[in-house]
Amino acid sequence: MTAYERCRVLLRFADLIEQHNDEIAALESWDGGKPLEQSAGAEVPMAARCMRYYAGWADKIHGMVVPADGPHHVQVLREPIGVAGQIIPWNFPLLMFAWKVGPALACGNAVVLKTAEQTPLSALYVASLLHEAGLPEGVLNVVPGFGPTAGAALCSHMGVDKLAFTGSTGTGKIILELAARSNLKPVTLELGGKSPFIVMDDADVDQAVELAHRAIFFNQGQCCCAGSRTFVHESVYDEFVEKSKARAQRRVVGDPFKKGVEQGPQIDGQQFKKILGYVKSGVDSGATLVTGGDRLGSRGFYVQPTVFADVEDEMKIAKEEIFGPIQSILKFRDVGEVVRRANPTQYGLAAGVFTGSLDTANAVARALRVGTVWVNCYDVFDAAIPFGGYKMSGVGREKGPYSLGNYLQTKAVVAPLRDPAWL
Ligand code: NAD
Repeated sequence: MTAYERCRVLLRFADLIEQHNDEIAALESWDGGKPLEQSAGAEVPMAARCMRYYAGWADKIHGMVVPADGPHHVQVLREPIGVAGQIIPWNFPLLMFAWKVGPALACGNAVVLKTAEQTPLSALYVASLLHEAGLPEGVLNVVPGFGPTAGAALCSHMGVDKLAFTGSTGTGKIILELAARSNLKPVTLELGGKSPFIVMDDADVDQAVELAHRAIFFNQGQCCCAGSRTFVHESVYDEFVEKSKARAQRRVVGDPFKKGVEQGPQIDGQQFKKILGYVKSGVDSGATLVTGGDRLGSRGFYVQPTVFADVEDEMKIAKEEIFGPIQSILKFRDVGEVVRRANPTQYGLAAGVFTGSLDTANAVARALRVGTVWVNCYDVFDAAIPFGGYKMSGVGREKGPYSLGNYLQTKAVVAPLRDPAWL
């Protein structure tokens, strides 16, 4: 297809996503348990926006002619990389589909995408919309299947030219290894996190309590960039803990299809058990359980919004990714100390800084070794903003123009210029 045709297919696809917003949102909530209001009001519209963003890039990707020292005409071409293998997780199935498929198709590639075993529905549904939008048969292939079989086969396949993965750090390592053992296909990885959410003494406490709450509890706590270490300055600590407890107790947990529900069930029994195991570990290691800490009701994988105070850096709940509705609050005394404590983790995905001082915000933003710093806000996603991790939170970046390079090859074409008069 020409670049302009690809642009038009992606634009039509975005329109179709919007037209089918309610059905897609219902599938997403049915499959993953997330509140329908969030699927319908955020995830589906963001996926449509992402498709329009990459539609806009499709006809603006081009190489250049570069000056060479000798009598040569040198063109640098940007070509599609070929067949992109993509493996996505269950926490944001549609949005992860959009972040991966949008740039791959804009650049002219074919895609084989494996959904997470828990959440195949939205990708299968929108794949049919993409064909309705005019994508030729076989260009996008959605393959639901298990990780160690279907996922591993995709990673090892000699006909796959590039891999993009979002999920756990452990699986990311396996994927890199499979790529290395087969055809050395390049790999981009979006992995786990243990993101600090730092509240300085000059922050607006009420606003920080609310945003810290959303940063950790959003999507049942199942976010790679969840603000899972809430660092609070000692001068506002007690007030912050009290208000966080009250906010967690007000959180509306229940049937994701009911209006006003903020939190649905966890994705499955395995995650549910893992989360309750972390609660036990927090209590055993001496953290103060301020509220929650148990399952909610007797049916379904609902977990009470849980807040721990007096959390110390070396506790398991402060080090490992819980992926559940568990807030850990830690106390600090000054800026230098909090930076020194926030950085030494295997992860480096995101961070939040809450302060009334621009100087503090700038200093801390530069000192943190993470891919995204949100200042006085959190979880602001836009198709144009790059996303990815330092350290074991990932390799490469997605979104914005940064994704395009992941799906392109660079070719130099060099030919002699016979008539030096035209050099
Ligand atoms: P996972 O990493 O195992 O699964 C993510 C995707 O990878 C799924 O599509 C899965 O089928 C696939 N996969 C699994 N094993 C594979 C293999 N050997 N080869 C190729 N593909 C494979 O994550 P999970 O088991 O669903 O969740 C476990 C933990 O991972 C969670 O508790 C959480 O901490 C973390 N997680 C992080 C994210 C994120 O966005 N960073 C998303 C989901 C889970």
